[in-house]
Amino acid sequence: MRKLDTKTIVVASHNAGKIREIQDLIGPFGFTAKSAAELNFIEPDETGTTFEENATIKALASAQAAGLPALSDDSGLVIDALGGDPGVYTANWAETADGTRDFAMAMQKVETALERAGAISPESRTARFVSVLCLAWPDGHTELFRGEVEGTVVWPPRGTQGFGYDPVFKPEGYDTTFGEMSADQKHGWKHGDSHALSHRARAFKIFVETCLEA
Ligand code: IMP
Repeated sequence: MRKLDTKTIVVASHNAGKIREIQDLIGPFGFTAKSAAELNFIEPDETGTTFEENATIKALASAQAAGLPALSDDSGLVIDALGGDPGVYTANWAETADGTRDFAMAMQKVETALERAGAISPESRTARFVSVLCLAWPDGHTELFRGEVEGTVVWPPRGTQGFGYDPVFKPEGYDTTFGEMSADQKHGWKHGDSHALSHRARAFKIFVETCLEA
C-alpha cells in the first residue's frame, strides 16, 4: 500500500455533487485540491464494466494530465429487484437527448422499472449505494477503496439536499432519505469516528486509514 506524501492532489471528477462531497471529506486533512472540471481536463470515457475499472480510468487520466496524485470516485445505485441495475450505468440513466442529466427523470425511470418488476413493498426494494475511490499517481500506481451503504428505494422522492438519486434512497436504520439529510448527516463521519454512513464516506475512511495514517 503506497502512502500519500503530498497535500496537493486533483479531485478527478466533473460531477459537482461528488466534487463537493470529496472536498468536504478531504478538507479537514489540509489538502489543496482542484477538480478535473476546474482544470478543464477532458472527461475520459467510462468504458469499464465495474466501479473499480471506471474509477481507475478517471483517476489515471487526471493524475497523468496534472502530474499530481488524483482521487476519483465511481459510484452508483445497485437495486436487487432490477438485477443490480442501474449499477455502473447510474449516471447514464439520467442522460437526456441533449446530453444533459435529469435526475428527476432518472428517479422516475427507476420507479417505473421497480413497478414493472412488481417490487412495491419496502422489503422488495432493497438497494445499496456503492462508491469506489481510486487514488492514482502519475507513474501509474493505483490504490482502490470501496464503500457501500444498504438501504431501500422509496417513492415519491423526499428532500432537496445532496445530489443525484439522494431523494429516493433511505439508508437502513434511518427514517429519512439522503435527500433529507445535511451533508454532515449523510457522511456520518469525522476523522477519528469508528463508523461512517454514506458509501463515499465509508470508502474515504478506508483511504484515510490506509494511505494517510500509520
Ligand atoms: P459516475 O460515478 O460518474 O459514473 O456516476 C455515478 C452516478 O451515481 C452519479 O451521477 C449519481 O447520480 C449517482 N450517485 C453516486 N453517488 C451518489 C450519492 O451519494 N447520492 C446520489 N446519487 C449518487
